Formats: sequence, C-alpha cells, structure tokens
Amino acid sequence: METAAPLAVPAATPFLDHVQGLLPEGGNLSACLTCGACVAGCPAAGLEGMDPRKFLRLITLGLEDEALKSPWVWMCTMCRRCLMACPMQVDIPQMIYQARQSWPRETRPKGIMGSCDQALRTEGASAMGARSEDFEFVIGDILEEVHESQPGWEELQAPVNKQGAMYFLNQNSREPVTEPDEMVPLWKILHLVGADWTYGTQGWAAENYCMFLADDAAWEEVVRKKVAGVESLGAKVWLNTE
Ligand code: SF4
Ligand code: SF4
Repeated sequence: METAAPLAVPAATPFLDHVQGLLPEGGNLSACLTCGACVAGCPAAGLEGMDPRKFLRLITLGLEDEALKSPWVWMCTMCRRCLMACPMQVDIPQMIYQARQSWPRETRPKGIMGSCDQALRTEGASAMGARSEDFEFVIGDILEEVHESQPGWEELQAPVNKQGAMYFLNQNSREPVTEPDEMVPLWKILHLVGADWTYGTQGWAAENYCMFLADDAAWEEVVRKKVAGVESLGAKVWLNTE
C-alpha cells in the first residue's frame, strides 16, 4: 500500500481548531499515519481528484481553502467507512460535514437542498414531495394487487395509522413514487415473522436529505416530525431502514 511522509507540524487554522474542538476526548486529527486505509473503501475516492486522506492532509496542513471549496465535499456519502477503517479513529466524515456547513446555504447543491425543503414542506417528510394521501393510496393499491395475483398471500397486511403497533416503519419515498412493488418483499418478511407493525401518514418517509445538506436546524425539524408520527400512534419501536 502506498504511504506518504508523516505530517510533522500541523498548521493551526480556525477551521482545524473548530473541528478539533468537536472531537471526543483524546481525538486528534493530526494523528493521521497517512496509511491510506480510509481511501481503500471510500466510494468517493478519486472523484474531483480528491479522497479522504488528501482531504485530511489539506486541512491539517492549513490548505483548507482548497479542501473546503472542493465540490468533492458534496460527493461523500457520509457512509463512515473511512472512520471504521482508520487505525487512529480520525473522524473525516465530521470534517466533511463541517466543510459543508462552511458553504452558504444558497450555494449548496440544488438537488440536495430541494429534497431537504420538500421534506420540510410535506406531512410525511418526503424528499420527493409525495403527499401522505398518495402514499396511503399506493399502499392500498399494491396490497390489493398482491391479494389478487399472488396465491398464498391473501392475508398479507400493510397497515397505515394503526394505533398501538409494536413497530412504526418508515419507507423511502422512492419506492411508493417510482417502484411501489419494491415495498412488498419487506411486507412479506414482516408477515412471516408475525410482526405487529404499521406505517403512518405523518413522518412516513425514511430519508433525510437535510442531514446531507448539513442543515442542523432542518435536520432536527425533520427528525422531530418523524418522532411525532411514531408517538402519535403509540408505537414502541421506530424502524428506519435508511
Ligand atoms: S486511515 Fe486514518 S490514519 Fe490512515 S490515512 Fe486515513 S485518516 Fe490517516
Ligand atoms: S464517509 Fe465520505 S469520505 Fe468517508 S468513506 Fe464514506 S464517502 Fe468516503
């Protein structure tokens, strides 16, 4: 594996100080060994000529302008593989999140911003702007189709707004909007294990693009909307598959 020279004297910058202050006790961004383990599993490595190790080195060496302004910060999936692989527990996703916050909101990618704003506007917190009544209609439609066309599944259930169920299940908007049949396999699994579950018309969407937008207030608002949906039905466990 390719390795580069260790970082001798990290330069202090406001951004570096800020990120250091967010680390758990004992955390140290300048502990990087430049081993490249973070790069190996990163799905965004190489895009825009950037990867997690290079991003970290730019920040640590005080070249933060180049790092923070790179469109690469929006290509990171926030999967945290780099952190899991890092022998020094360097929290690169946290740095990337902070880098995103350094962009004025109106300059952030329109697609992510639009998805976040749709979630804020809709009862279900749907990033695709899907209405709750349409979500409920699609579920009923697909369920009826299964009952009529799939022998052995006549008793399959897909409850909506069932009070007191054990599990409140979220659903990514993409399925009811573009691939509704994709919801059925999970319904079948829940049926076979005898799970007591429900969807809800409030806060039903699983995704949260406000997190990817690095908009803390909007992220929290969307989560609270979903929590309110779970609590309004008295469900005991919130299942979010995202
Ligand atoms: S895995 Fe950790 S120690 Fe290795 S290069 Fe990446 S950040 Fe540095
Ligand atoms: S969190 Fe971002 S930088 Fe880290 S491995 Fe995932 S995509 Fe790469």
